Amino acid sequence: MYNKNEYRVMPYTADEIELNRQLLEACETRIVNLKDVESLLKKGADPLGTTNPDYIDKHLYSDIVCSLGDFNSKYLPKVTELFLKYGMNIDRPRVPYDDRTDNPLWGFAFFSGHNVARTLKILLDHGLSAESTGVFWNHEIGDLIDVYYDDIHEEFMYNRCMWTIKKLMLLASYDHILENDEQLRRFIGYDYNSYDIKHFRNWDDFEYIFDTTHCNGTPQLDRSIVRIYEKKSKREVWVFGVYLEWMDDCTVRYVRRNKRDSDEPFVCPICGKHTFKKNGDGSKCPVCLWQNDIVQNCEPSYKNGANRMSQNKYRKNYLAGKVE
Ligand SMILES: [Zn+2]
Repeated sequence: MYNKNEYRVMPYTADEIELNRQLLEACETRIVNLKDVESLLKKGADPLGTTNPDYIDKHLYSDIVCSLGDFNSKYLPKVTELFLKYGMNIDRPRVPYDDRTDNPLWGFAFFSGHNVARTLKILLDHGLSAESTGVFWNHEIGDLIDVYYDDIHEEFMYNRCMWTIKKLMLLASYDHILENDEQLRRFIGYDYNSYDIKHFRNWDDFEYIFDTTHCNGTPQLDRSIVRIYEKKSKREVWVFGVYLEWMDDCTVRYVRRNKRDSDEPFVCPICGKHTFKKNGDGSKCPVCLWQNDIVQNCEPSYKNGANRMSQNKYRKNYLAGKVE
């Protein structure tokens, strides 16, 4: 294993740094000459290396993701494939990440489009870890929720949010990510959806709708219910509520679902007389017959869940003695 103190020692020779510099130059351009890139890799250029002779401030791939990702370049997946062919392993760079050098996956949080998603998929196919993907999706969600005054239905925001969901579902379609990222599992409502999640690897087969009909004021991502439809059958196949909260610590951005969405016992939101094993297990309250639907539990005015009435209306009726 690496020792953090090794940062003090530059592990790259001057020749290697020069090769890395040339690699960066070859990739930071509109039209990338893949032959040049490959020949540099053959000579030993390291896409997770540095171009700084004094210390490692970031890994090369970060810069490449940013410059090519910025315009959804078709060269991003192409150079990534080459890097992998020559042994790039995001999870094990020659010099590990620390406070100064973010995991280059972080850069994926800023860019959208097919080539960006395709690149992510290539990395996932090569076993990219949940730790690395967690870095970027937490950051991405963090950025989106941060936009407080933008309407999600404004075109730019909508596209950004849609790509976020496409990327999250793509990540979750890999067993090794799903098993090792409980936060992601909870975020996308894995436990209460039954559709085969592997289908989301073909992100274009689906329509992603942000349902904000229940929102008062500006409909934002953090209050929306995400509904995913199969384009072919027009069938709704996946649903989850986006419940996000900031941690108090303003330096650390953190994402979690509504606190009611936990494995703790959950008191019936209608009658308060029955305790479900947890929020959203789908069972019926024996007292008031409310069905334990997680989306409706978290969104009191939401109508189209397992219960035909919203929680608010159901409670009103229950209190008026209209529910048996
Ligand atoms: Zn009840």
